[in-house]
This record gives sequence, C-alpha cells and structure tokens, in this order.
Amino acid sequence: MLTMKQLSKVYQTHMIETHALRGIDMQVREGEFVAVTGPSGSGKTTFLNIAGLLEEFTGGEYHLDGVDVRGLDDNQRSRLRNEKLGFIFQGFNLIPDLNLFDNVDVPLRYRGMSAGERDQRIKEALERVGLASRLKHLPSQLSGGQQQRVAIARALAGSPRILFADEPTGNLDSLMAREVMNMLEDINSRGTTIVMVTHDPELARRVHRNIHIMDGQASDFAKAPRKAPREESTLSAVG
Ligand code: ADP
Ligand code: MG
Repeated sequence: MLTMKQLSKVYQTHMIETHALRGIDMQVREGEFVAVTGPSGSGKTTFLNIAGLLEEFTGGEYHLDGVDVRGLDDNQRSRLRNEKLGFIFQGFNLIPDLNLFDNVDVPLRYRGMSAGERDQRIKEALERVGLASRLKHLPSQLSGGQQQRVAIARALAGSPRILFADEPTGNLDSLMAREVMNMLEDINSRGTTIVMVTHDPELARRVHRNIHIMDGQASDFAKAPRKAPREESTLSAVG
C-alpha cells in the first residue's frame, strides 16, 4: 500500500539546512493500523505530510498504492490525495464559520460529485460518528472530542483507502482520546489502512505495529502484526 526507500527530506531556511528525514525505509500493508512514535522534532509530522502527499520529499523513492509519487505533477498529486487519502490533525482543522454539514462537504466539493451524492455521504459520515443530529451546529458549539469526530467524518465521507492521523488525540482528555481511538479501530476493522502519529503509549499499544522515528530514521518494532501475542512469545521461547 505504501512503500518508502531511502526517503529523505531537507528543509532549507536562510543559511540553515535541516535534515528532517535521513533515509526512511518502510512499508505499510493494506489493512494495517500502524502507529508512528518518536520524540518531538524527530520527523514524524514531516514523514506523515510526505506520505499524505501534502509535502514533497528531497530524495529516495515513494510508491503509494502502486503509484510512483516522484513522477506526479501537482494536479495528479492533489487528485490522488483527494480521492484516496483522508486526514485527521491534532488541531481538528475545521473551518470555524462553516457548520458541520458544510465542513464535511469541503473535500467532497473537489470531487465533482452530484449534490445528492454529497448530501448522502455527509449525512452517513456524521451519523457514523454520532453527530447526525447536529448538522447545523458550528464547530465552536462542540466539545474537543466532538470536533475531532467531525474531522473523522470529513475524512470518512471521501471513502479513503488510507487515513493519516497526526496526534489525533493530542488535544483531548483521556476519555475523549479513548473514544476517538475506538472510532479509528472501528474504521480500520472495516478495511481502511491507518497511519497514526502518536505520543500516547496506551494508544500505540493498541495497534498492529509501531514504527519508531528517531533523528529522521525509522525502525520497526514488530514486523509481525501483534494480534496473537501468545504465538509470538512461544516463538521467541523456541528461537
Ligand atoms: P515531529 O513531528 O516529530 O515533532 P517534525 O517533522 O515536525 O517533527 O520536524 C522534524 C525537523 O524538521 C525539526 O527539526 C523541525 O524543526 C524541522 N522542520 C519541520 N518543518 C519545517 C519547515 N517547514 N521548515 C524548516 N524546518 C522544518
Ligand atoms: Mg509533529
């Protein structure tokens, strides 16, 4: 689904070069739920933005769902992003003066769907996150947890193949964080691949695999999905 080889990113600002990513090798398979962890400033957001085609990279290779990203122009990247990817950010990124319905509509408007299809997708998505009764509310009239659920609905309405989440629970208390995580697990169990940056060890433990980024380099903590911990411990006892 997602393959990176020796991917690098250098930021040039004034006279300073920042090597944010220094040769990332990684692979995310279809249907996986992966957590990306690591200290602040290690390159997690840079990695996620490049993976989500929000930012360009400097060197290396990146294939997304069979497409060589390097060869795409801006229009092709936007199209691929809009049709196949969904995003959830720490700060929700909702538009304050649009109601919930219109917020979820924003990415759909770029897809050339009929008004009827958009209407149906928006209502279904808001229903799935338990906010169908608040279509006309503004983001400021909701709690943080509810606002993040709107952002999840906005991502889901486009039926993404991959969902990218950057610290999606970073601004939430632990109860709301758990609720958002339950929702992400449900989305993943229905087939959407999820790549989530998180600081929260409790959340990181709940996913299939952790990728740790340190100084712009990645290491894989568990190659095999962690669904069968008993089997894993038997294997390590034998080998
Ligand atoms: P994390 O999300 O793990 O905290 P980031 O990916 O945001 O880390 O940042 C990695 C490094 O790249 C940091 O040293 C940061 O200062 C630098 N960086 C990130 N974005 C930019 C930018 N737009 N311009 C210059 N440097 C940047
Ligand atoms: Mg970050």
